[in-house]
Amino acid sequence: MINYDVIVIGGGLTGSALSYELSQKKLKVLLIEKDSVLNNATIYSYGGISYWGGTSNLTNQLCQEGINIHRNLEEELSANTEFREIDLLFTIDIDQNPQETLEDYKHFFIQPQLLDIDESLALEPLLNKNNITGCLRFPQGHVNPQKTILAYQKALKNNGGNVVQETVISLIQKEDKIIGIKTNNKNYFTNEVIICAGAFSRQILQDLGLNLPIYFTHAQLIKTPPSDIKLRTLVMPATTKRFEMEKQATSLEIESIWQTSNNLIQNDVLEAGAIQFLDGSFCLGQISQIITNIDALVPKNTSARRIREAIAKTLPSLANIEGTWHNCQIAFSQGMPFQVGKIKKFEGLSIFSGFTSPFVFVPPLAKHFAHYLTENSDPIIESLPSL
Ligand SMILES: Cc1cc2nc3c(=O)[nH]c(=O)nc-3n(C[C@H](O)[C@H](O)[C@H](O)COP(=O)(O)OP(=O)(O)OC[C@H]3O[C@@H](n4cnc5c(N)ncnc54)[C@H](O)[C@@H]3O)c2cc1C
Repeated sequence: MINYDVIVIGGGLTGSALSYELSQKKLKVLLIEKDSVLNNATIYSYGGISYWGGTSNLTNQLCQEGINIHRNLEEELSANTEFREIDLLFTIDIDQNPQETLEDYKHFFIQPQLLDIDESLALEPLLNKNNITGCLRFPQGHVNPQKTILAYQKALKNNGGNVVQETVISLIQKEDKIIGIKTNNKNYFTNEVIICAGAFSRQILQDLGLNLPIYFTHAQLIKTPPSDIKLRTLVMPATTKRFEMEKQATSLEIESIWQTSNNLIQNDVLEAGAIQFLDGSFCLGQISQIITNIDALVPKNTSARRIREAIAKTLPSLANIEGTWHNCQIAFSQGMPFQVGKIKKFEGLSIFSGFTSPFVFVPPLAKHFAHYLTENSDPIIESLPSL
């Protein structure tokens, strides 16, 4: 029987980055991922690093640390994440007022630049000039999400960490202490279990009788093979509707619906967006839908058609590229843009999940949390609400 210092559940961005940082602290780390072919939120992500998006001293600091880590990550991990700096363009629809839209983004740490139609087209010639009144431009970092988690996992293994493909069925408890996990294969024992299971984190917590504010959306998108068409920027619509939907769906009055399953709480939100990766492939998105049943089936054909119709209005030349529809579940939380810390009710149990903008927040918080777990102190982690 092998005992580990730490067991991390989930091999997406959160689990991979945190496992690596823990292995940097010389801990014996086991990372457990249930799928051999990943079908998680990370691999379907755009991979945008929104380092402009801080809204408090804490998140501003993390945004600056986040982009600085990404700028040096390929060297640190000796692997290619395809990091680059690009423009993020938030398209302003013809029925939106540019000045009012600008106001919606004024509270961010880095202010956007308001572009008129000609300035927008100069940066992104694929935009449909008849459908926009302009764009908001932010500086953005960008990585290939899949390559980034592979880079973290490779560096973890180089540090002596283990990655296994098994499904965690339950956590092993001894009174108020978590002492290990039971997988579909065997039991593993450890001093600390950290839940990094994305949307599935909620279920693992619920099975332990814990009700932390971690929820999920069902996301739908289209991935394409490499194409000769060239998109220069990351394009997203200038809308806060997804955040409003998430806030409403987790308000106190209806929070209890999350204890049950199969309930559609809200309508979905469609954000016509696109990113092109360095190999020429695209991710076109995205529909976000709230259904409390994590296994709910979403209708493929209507969903793919709606995404293509929306893309046809904003980026017409991308609307008919051959591609494959996918869906996945994305975790989010309320009150904070992440849930990070030791869970008070159980000794030996922590959470590192529920991130909004994880590509900027996860790398620095993984460093801080690994420091906290090994040194028993870290000013950033100690400033977070207790769980
Ligand atoms: C279309 C789209 C665009 C996006 N764009 C951006 C963007 O530009 N910037 C940004 O920051 N974010 C973006 N996101 C969001 C971001 O990708 C996700 O929030 C993030 O990748 C989630 O990482 P995670 O590790 O929490 O979850 P996941 O990537 O879902 O990983 C969780 C893992 O846990 C595993 N797991 C679950 N249960 C178990 C179990 N019992 N046993 C073992 N393993 C288990 C799962 O198989 C999964 O691999 C986007 C998402 C989508 C879908």
